[in-house]
Amino acid sequence: MVGPHALSIDVEHWYDATLATRPAAAQPEFARREIEAVLELLAAHGAKATFFVLGHLAQELPASVRAIADAGHEIGCHGMTHDLLWQMGEQRFRHEVAAAKAVLEDLTGHAVRGYRAATWSLDARSPWAPAALLDLGFTYDSSVFPLRTPLYGVAGAPLKPYRLRAGAGALLELPPAVGSLLGLRVPFAGGMYWRLLPTGLVLGGLRGEGTRVLYAHPWEVAPGGWSLPASSGVVARFSMGFGRRHLRQVLLGLLRQVTFLPLGLVAAKLPDDQLEDWTFVDGSLVRSGH
Ligand SMILES: [Zn+2]
Repeated sequence: MVGPHALSIDVEHWYDATLATRPAAAQPEFARREIEAVLELLAAHGAKATFFVLGHLAQELPASVRAIADAGHEIGCHGMTHDLLWQMGEQRFRHEVAAAKAVLEDLTGHAVRGYRAATWSLDARSPWAPAALLDLGFTYDSSVFPLRTPLYGVAGAPLKPYRLRAGAGALLELPPAVGSLLGLRVPFAGGMYWRLLPTGLVLGGLRGEGTRVLYAHPWEVAPGGWSLPASSGVVARFSMGFGRRHLRQVLLGLLRQVTFLPLGLVAAKLPDDQLEDWTFVDGSLVRSGH
C-alpha cells in the first residue's frame, strides 16, 4: 500500500459550489444520499477521512453529520455559508465560522480542530483569517492552495505542511497536493484535477516523499440525482459536470492502493521541529523566522 496520505471530503450541496446556479429552493435530499454513498465507499475500503462540513448543511442534515462521526471519521469545519473569505470580510468570517464550529461540536460532542475555506479562498486577500481561526480554537487549516489559479491560490506557497504564523501563534497548514514537474507546479489534489488526470499520474504523485492532502466532494463522487439548470454557463458545466465518472474511478483506484487517514491524525504525527514558518505580510505569503 502507498501512504499514509490524508483524504478530505468537502461536504456541501452541489449548488454551494462557487460556479453553480442556486435552485429556487433547498434540495437537501441529494446531499443526504451522496453522503451515505461516500460513507459506504470509504467503509468498503477501510479508509478514514476528514469531512469538512458546511454549517448550513449540518443544520439541514444533522443525522448525516452524526453518521459521519459515528463511522469514525473526523469532522472539520467548511464555514457556515460557502461564500468566499475575501468577499465576506473578517468580522462576518469570525461570526460565521464560530457559529458553524458550534453547530458541528453540538451535533457530534467532539471539538472541531480543522478548517477548510470555501473554494480555497484563504489567500493573500484574507491575511486576517489565520489569526481568526486561532482565536476560534482551530489548530490546523487546509485551505492555502499552493498555485495561483484564476479563482484561488497563492503562488510560491509551500507544497509541504508548514506553520502559518499569526501574531504569537501558528496554525498547522496542510496544503492540498500539488506536485512539481520540470519546474512547473502540477495540482493532483482531487476534485476537478482528478477529472482531468489518469489514475496512474495521481498515484505517481502519492509515491513520493511526505504525506499529501487530497479532496473530493460528495456531489461529484456520488451525484445523488441533481442536474445543472439549463441556464448554467459553459464554465459551470465543465467544472461541475465533466469527468465525474472518471473521478469516481480515480478515487476507487486510490482507495485500493493508498492508506488514508484523517488530517487531524496526520497533523499529530508531523515532526514539529522540521516545519517552516510562513506568514502573510503586505499581501504576500513569506517565510518568517521564529
Ligand atoms: Zn466547498
